Amino acid sequence: MITTGQKIAIERTKASRLPQTDLDNIKFGRVFSDHMFVMDYADGAWHKPRIEAFADLRMSPASLVLHYSQTIFEGLKAYRNVNGGINLIRPQSNIERMNHSARRLCMPQIPEDMFLDALVELVRQDQDWIPKDEDAALYIRPFMFASDEYIGVRPSDGYRFIIFTCPVRGYYSEPVRVKVETKYSRAFPGGTGETKCGGNYAAALYPAKLGQDQGYHQLVWTDGLSHKYIEESGTMNVFFNVDGTLITPALDGTILRGITRDSIIRIAKDEGIRVEERQVSVEEIEVAARNGRLRSAFGAGTAATIAHINTIAINDEVYELPDVSTRKLANQIGSKLDDIRRGRVADPYGWVVPVA
Ligand SMILES: *Cc1c(COP(=O)(O)O)cnc(C)c1O
Repeated sequence: MITTGQKIAIERTKASRLPQTDLDNIKFGRVFSDHMFVMDYADGAWHKPRIEAFADLRMSPASLVLHYSQTIFEGLKAYRNVNGGINLIRPQSNIERMNHSARRLCMPQIPEDMFLDALVELVRQDQDWIPKDEDAALYIRPFMFASDEYIGVRPSDGYRFIIFTCPVRGYYSEPVRVKVETKYSRAFPGGTGETKCGGNYAAALYPAKLGQDQGYHQLVWTDGLSHKYIEESGTMNVFFNVDGTLITPALDGTILRGITRDSIIRIAKDEGIRVEERQVSVEEIEVAARNGRLRSAFGAGTAATIAHINTIAINDEVYELPDVSTRKLANQIGSKLDDIRRGRVADPYGWVVPVA
């Protein structure tokens, strides 16, 4: 049974893969650090929190998760700071969101202090995996899945919670071409849109592929009822700069409560930028794009922080957004956020959690 302050058993690998890993040449999400954190849920309690070698799992073909997708995840990053230390950014927000997802998926809560201890200790153990260059980071992937060996549809009794990490290098993303999707839906009121549950992403693959076949990197989803209101992108929330005002869809239960989204809003307001969180209609964006008032648009999420959008297709019309110089607003906010992460400026928000 996990109690506050319970110690994490640490067994370091005897065969680190770091010496034969070329950290200068890594593909996002394909290289995994030496260790992972694991704990198991059984008989109504969490057991055996431990850090051990990153390794394959053994599981029954009848594991519930493989059939009915009772699984949730999170994503956050650890950054090297200018003083040689390492910072986690707003990990408590990820922990709260994971527990929010868990509740919706009938999964057990993870004790917040244990979760934070696990994040800090795991990053400490694998800190040498963070590439040294300016904009590298360690991507952290916590997830939980149903582990019962049973093929009836019901919540599992047993679960496994794992955290592993991936070194990632400066993520410069090319400006993206997006298509506003008005046929397929990602989420709908009362559904699971607000959670990071595996099923959401599986269901989005097909419409996203149709978009890719037409030359678009990403979809911008619209509401599942009327398809008249903008929601978000694949794994990013969206912002529009219309005449210098940042507009983003309000959190209505169907879009993910992005932590990057929240950070951007906080910083933008403090920089004196007008921000509106509200319903954003497709029509409004289309009109703004047509008459040149849509100065820029971008996606916001942990992976890229800010992904500029240069092309947006709405109802078979393709709008090219003005060129790079208009991305000033997004870049201003993005570099402020990066300065806080890297410890180049004081953190007025209490977001930084140092990994001692
Ligand atoms: C994870 C995610 C985001 C971004 O959330 P961050 O906390 O900023 O990384 C946005 N939308 C969806 C659907 C996501 O899965």
